[in-house]
Amino acid sequence: MEITNRMKTAVIIGAGTQGQVYASYLKEAGINLIGFMDDNPDLLGKEVIGIPVLGKYTDLFLDEFKEKIQDVYCPIGINSVRIEYLSTLKKEGYGIPGFLHHTVSIAPDVILGEAVYMLAGNSVMPHTTIGNYVMINSGSTIAHHATLEDGVFMSSGVNIGALIHVKRNAYIGMGVTAMTGIKEIGEETLIGAGTVIIRDVPDYVVLAGNPGRVLRTKKPQGIVSDPNNPSDLTFIGSGISSSFTILQFLNKIKDQEVKRKITINVIDKYSEFHLGIPYGERSGFSVHLITSLKNFLPEPELGVFIEWLNKNKYWLLDEFRKEGGELAANWIDTHSERIQNNDWEPLFVPRRFFGKYLEEKITECISHAKQKGQIAINYIEAEAIDLDKNNGGYKIILKNKNIIYSKKVVLSVGSLPVRYLWKNAPLVEEEKLLFVNNPYQPELKKVLKKIDQFVSNRKNENTNVLIVGANASGLELLYKLNDVEGIASKINKFTVLSTQGLLPDAVPDEERMKTFVPNNLKALSNASSLTAKEIADATYKDLDYADEINLGPASTVGIISSAFGALLGKLDEEELRTFACRYGNDIGRRQRCAGFHYSKNIDQLKKEERFDHIAGRFVTINKADTNEYFLEYLDTASGTNMVSDVPVHLVINCVGSTNFSQEDVPELLANVVQKGFCKPNNSRIGIDVNEALEASDNLHIVGPLLAGNLLEGKAVWHVEHCGRIIWLSKLLSEQMHTYFFEK
Ligand SMILES: Cc1cc2nc3c(=O)[nH]c(=O)nc-3n(C[C@H](O)[C@H](O)[C@H](O)COP(=O)(O)OP(=O)(O)OC[C@H]3O[C@@H](n4cnc5c(N)ncnc54)[C@H](O)[C@@H]3O)c2cc1C
Repeated sequence: MEITNRMKTAVIIGAGTQGQVYASYLKEAGINLIGFMDDNPDLLGKEVIGIPVLGKYTDLFLDEFKEKIQDVYCPIGINSVRIEYLSTLKKEGYGIPGFLHHTVSIAPDVILGEAVYMLAGNSVMPHTTIGNYVMINSGSTIAHHATLEDGVFMSSGVNIGALIHVKRNAYIGMGVTAMTGIKEIGEETLIGAGTVIIRDVPDYVVLAGNPGRVLRTKKPQGIVSDPNNPSDLTFIGSGISSSFTILQFLNKIKDQEVKRKITINVIDKYSEFHLGIPYGERSGFSVHLITSLKNFLPEPELGVFIEWLNKNKYWLLDEFRKEGGELAANWIDTHSERIQNNDWEPLFVPRRFFGKYLEEKITECISHAKQKGQIAINYIEAEAIDLDKNNGGYKIILKNKNIIYSKKVVLSVGSLPVRYLWKNAPLVEEEKLLFVNNPYQPELKKVLKKIDQFVSNRKNENTNVLIVGANASGLELLYKLNDVEGIASKINKFTVLSTQGLLPDAVPDEERMKTFVPNNLKALSNASSLTAKEIADATYKDLDYADEINLGPASTVGIISSAFGALLGKLDEEELRTFACRYGNDIGRRQRCAGFHYSKNIDQLKKEERFDHIAGRFVTINKADTNEYFLEYLDTASGTNMVSDVPVHLVINCVGSTNFSQEDVPELLANVVQKGFCKPNNSRIGIDVNEALEASDNLHIVGPLLAGNLLEGKAVWHVEHCGRIIWLSKLLSEQMHTYFFEK
């Protein structure tokens, strides 16, 4: 978290008593506070405690204010207002630093979110997590292993006992005591002053007294959404699929005069918008693309991005070096000449570079469209859990019980979520085991911090790591465990478990690939018609042959993919659909490649005899009488269950997504399937759509859920690749243009 930067000009939103308290402390801390922003027209141009009131909140959207103000503090106790203002202003380009009074005592391993405010005399004990936009007045204590989720407000003199989980936007009054032993204080709860909490508090209640009792259930704060005046367009999920759809749509109307504003909602369950899991906070600043830049982006986007990289590389590399460890520094040094010469195409550049580029691009584009009066855009941080039809459009039900009405809805929720392997939680902590089911939830950095704490607590005991899945994520986690200072040295052995027992290939053999010919696929070139199975069988044979002669996918992927791609024109529609649903992804799994920097790390571990690879399928983790945990797996070679003979202490699940035939499909998708609004296709990871990318009237799909379809005559399967996402988002943006401007 950025705490304070005395060089930057700062304002406080709200010139009331709370704002005045913060003004005193900020000035004491030497911050360059130049004024208040306050919506009270009587205060405009006047001074409050000697500090000028410069304007109202909305003035911060004007260029003249953006030019003179860099940082914004918003110590407003109403959680929803504070979060909305700060998250909106962040998107407008303002800094939103946190503020910790110099008397605050924070244990070194506490995880702190963004824009956290703590006044005098607070004490935060070890192994505590404090989310974004948390605000704590003076003299409170947060005991060890407690968690305060995003947006929590605590008044003065509050005591939160050990291990208690305070959920989003809880408002805790003065002098409240939450006794150790309770598990959680619910989302959006209001706890009256002096309450003594002795049992768990459900979501959305008002609680008071000693012992605390529920007085009433609160009505969730309503987002203004009128069934008779629905928004035009709502995106559920804000990753690169929705961003490229919005970008390409706005580019199309850039110079167009519009008769009325198009109202757009963007909903995401995570606090960051536009970047999705791979390119924003959830992945962090120190992980790389899984392909070279040349293979990641198509032209003309590639050229524009490279030009942007050339201009921005110094600060990007600086951030990358700061957030990464030894291996990140190594990557920069290894490629310094190429970077110096702006020769980016062969590099597996850090993913966040692309995220930063996209963020800048879409912010500019939206700001232009807003200025021209073409759109109004509304960001909603919430999980969508259900849809119902409403006057030809949809009613979107959010987990926080708010409802959004929209004429058109786009499901841009990314791939199906990670399939949990063991117990039903993203992270399971036991005394001698840390099991990470989803390394990107809530964020990779926070998970790595947990891992660091776990291995550090083991003191002199050896730690064995198991990574389940030998795909890009598996390699990424192996890399990061060796990159973060302090973790790798405490790890004894790294084991990867994967069905094939093979790692993604990294180094192309430039010489031998020149002479490699996919003979089995070539033999089909004269056939007038083919079946999907015939093409797939020939592909498998060519892949087998490449394995036999030790030529890995890094050398053959381009050759084999173009060879089978050229044959797809010989399939009739039904066979093409079969290829998309059944064989495309399966072939892809055998063509996995990785960056050299990731594979070099494994080579090093092999040299140190600290790496092992088991060919098998995860069954479970068993606890022995010694309290140690052991892996049980289905051995690929023998087809029998086996138990590893060394204990495992840290397990990271990288097996990838679930599918529509499993029971763990997320609530929203389970509901839209059950109501018949969406029909999963035979790929089991995609939903059937028509040429307008509609699963039902006015319910569109974009991104990985398009797998298994035929669009513009092409078979679509692996919609994870950025180039394919840009293509499909363009198709959808054209549909939107037709609907809003041509119909
Ligand atoms: C760790 C990782 C690394 C990757 N690296 C690469 C790479 O290097 N190169 C490459 O080409 N591809 C990569 N990919 C593939 C990636 O999936 C796609 O490139 C792309 O990010 C998909 O974009 P999206 O917008 O469709 O989905 P996502 O990026 O997954 O975004 C979907 C968004 O929807 C939100 N959401 C989901 N459900 C709901 C709900 N019910 N309500 C509200 N919000 C919801 C999520 O919070 C998320 O922000 C990577 C993927 C991951 C996970």
